[in-house]
Amino acid sequence: MKMPAFEYACPETLAEAVALLASHDGEAKPIAGGQSLLPMMAFRVAQPTLLVDLRKLAELRGIRISSDGVRLGALVRWRDIQDDARLATAHPLLADAIKHVAHYQVRNRGTVGGSMAHADPASEMPGVAVTCDAEIAVRGKSGTRTIKAADFFLGALTTALAPDEIITEVRLPAWPANRRHGFQEFARRRGDFAMSGVALFYDLDAGGKAANAHVGVIGVGDHPKRLAAVEAVVNGQTVDEATIAKAVAAASAAVEPPDDIHASAAYRKALTGTLVERALRSAAA
Ligand SMILES: Cc1cc2nc3c(=O)[nH]c(=O)nc-3n(C[C@H](O)[C@H](O)[C@H](O)COP(=O)(O)OP(=O)(O)OC[C@H]3O[C@@H](n4cnc5c(N)ncnc54)[C@H](O)[C@@H]3O)c2cc1C
Repeated sequence: MKMPAFEYACPETLAEAVALLASHDGEAKPIAGGQSLLPMMAFRVAQPTLLVDLRKLAELRGIRISSDGVRLGALVRWRDIQDDARLATAHPLLADAIKHVAHYQVRNRGTVGGSMAHADPASEMPGVAVTCDAEIAVRGKSGTRTIKAADFFLGALTTALAPDEIITEVRLPAWPANRRHGFQEFARRRGDFAMSGVALFYDLDAGGKAANAHVGVIGVGDHPKRLAAVEAVVNGQTVDEATIAKAVAAASAAVEPPDDIHASAAYRKALTGTLVERALRSAAA
């Protein structure tokens, strides 16, 4: 399909980009990799009158790793994460999850900020952000603010971003050495959006028991969320067969996925339990 008509701007500074968004009464949109926005425009799901291209904004680039954690600039691409060998130890859950995003071509263009703002319920990056209690730094006409990932995703393709706000960075807390993790998802074809996905971690205490469990799911609701019932089953326990069996049952019971053309709700509930089992086994291995 042909694109609808739109104006295009490619500002040199973040302040200029924010001012352009603010001056268009919600009718302007930032564009990063274009991998979600351009298809949405072609299908007339989005019809911005102005596209504000972020590509010249150097302050939105770069992966910074420190004792505070990992900071991903909004313009960091999936390919940048995949190619950064430091992340295998600095944030192995992120490194594992990103391997499941889309295909080679899309990974060369798609960005962290675009994925967070697009807020597809089955996207891996929002799932990692919610599971890890990430913070999203944004800049708008009233200045800067940070939003907790748990408060950022409001529904399918809906976030807490105001129309004039640009995501500048996603901040993931530091990853301790005693942390164990697993990421599992199932899609009909490699690179497709997940029918269900599970991101989890826990910290091993001195006695070999799990503490501080975080279990997040994607693809089984209108936004990613943590499963407190599964975390309660895992915390304080050795991750053995009995704990895994209880976690599987708790996960299947905790999610309320919709029926759709890809799978029934019952299938997705069972699948989520299976993915929790696989993720816990890989964490414990
Ligand atoms: C065939 C295909 C398969 C895919 N499979 C997957 C998959 O398996 N998993 C997955 O997670 N994704 C998948 N995607 C989506 C892909 O990861 C996108 O790249 C990503 O969702 C959006 O990133 P982008 O940089 O392309 O954003 P764009 O398309 O440029 O923008 C998307 C939205 O975010 C807004 N935006 C962009 N940057 C910012 C910013 N810094 N601040 C505020 N708003 C911003 C735009 O205005 C727009 O609303 C797939 C895409 C395709 C085409």
